[in-house]
Amino acid sequence: MRSDSSRHTAIIGAGIAGLACARALNAAGLPVILFDKARGPGGRMSSKRLPDATLELGAQFFSIKEATFRREVAEWRKAGCIAPWPTSLWSADGGSWQRHEDDLERLCGQPRMSAVTRHLADGLEVVADTRIERLEGSAGEWQLVDLRGERHGPFARVVISAPSPQAHALVAPHDATLAAACEAVIQRPCWSAWALFEAPLPALPGVDDDWQAVRLNDPRLRFVTRNQLKPGRSEQGESLSLLANLAWSEARLEDSPETIVEALLEAFQQALPAGIQLPAPSALGAHRWRYAQPDVFAGGTAVNLDYRRSASGLALCGDGWRGPRVEDAWLSGHHLGEALVADAA
Ligand SMILES: Cc1cc2nc3c(=O)[nH]c(=O)nc-3n(C[C@H](O)[C@H](O)[C@H](O)COP(=O)(O)OP(=O)(O)OC[C@H]3O[C@@H](n4cnc5c(N)ncnc54)[C@H](O)[C@@H]3O)c2cc1C
Repeated sequence: MRSDSSRHTAIIGAGIAGLACARALNAAGLPVILFDKARGPGGRMSSKRLPDATLELGAQFFSIKEATFRREVAEWRKAGCIAPWPTSLWSADGGSWQRHEDDLERLCGQPRMSAVTRHLADGLEVVADTRIERLEGSAGEWQLVDLRGERHGPFARVVISAPSPQAHALVAPHDATLAAACEAVIQRPCWSAWALFEAPLPALPGVDDDWQAVRLNDPRLRFVTRNQLKPGRSEQGESLSLLANLAWSEARLEDSPETIVEALLEAFQQALPAGIQLPAPSALGAHRWRYAQPDVFAGGTAVNLDYRRSASGLALCGDGWRGPRVEDAWLSGHHLGEALVADAA
């Protein structure tokens, strides 16, 4: 690592929160390097690419509440990496389907959700495939040690944007206050299944033929989306994402993916109007998100800050510090980045 690296900020996690923080630092001319254990940036906004289809198993869309995020999203729109979706959203309860109508604008990445995080990562230094196992050092002189035993640093500051249990493992040996903050934020798990079909789903009576997403009132399954109807994916065939309820996922955390996808497909079959049969799937799978969604009532919002930091130069951001949505994660990272820039001024 270069000798001037002691001025750098290291960010562990290149999901949307880590990237938002990095961009705020970068925009102010402060050097920053991101590390992620995955093959690329994205985290829970990444997309799964199969030979015949691209699917999202994490965030399906995002919405906007805050003006700061609205301004950012306008930039993404200009860059062409997002589009409105879903525009045909339904609710299903006991076989009865109703159009879901509200004033919320919903958007997704195009041609895949990860287009947003790829766009944000553009021009930033992202070290992928690098799981940070531990931190060494002290204030202003932090070293990152990865799974292979390689050292990175020294860094003046380390931002950890990983979900709170993973952040806890990194900060606990160095900072009792940040560790206690992590313990107060519970991240709940979620199973996400996917199913490809050679034939399209049959038409449903009274429902748009090209319905895009449905919320379900079922203890197993909460949301189903049709990936081929997301912007920029018209080439792929019928491809569903099936998101499980959190309590159901918690109770089945150690089940096999095969059992999970079978149960979620059965739940979806039961949510279809009477007499409608799902075609036979051609490929199936399921992904377990161990830390899918923060339970913000457990602690994160009690202190009115959407990030945490300490005098040691360690800081925490991510959805756990604000709320369970893409916007929350972005705002958390962005606000932390702004605070670090103000410190450096
Ligand atoms: C199934 C599901 C559905 C969702 N649906 C929606 C939705 O429809 N709308 C919405 O707004 N939000 C949704 N969300 C929530 C949204 O995806 C998240 O709030 C947001 O993406 C979190 O971003 P983040 O940057 O805080 O965390 P993450 O995206 O989890 O980023 C953390 C990063 O840290 C990396 N990391 C962790 N530990 C280490 C380590 N030791 N070393 C290196 N790297 C590490 C991970 O690889 C990851 O890339 C959904 C989430 C899930 C799981």
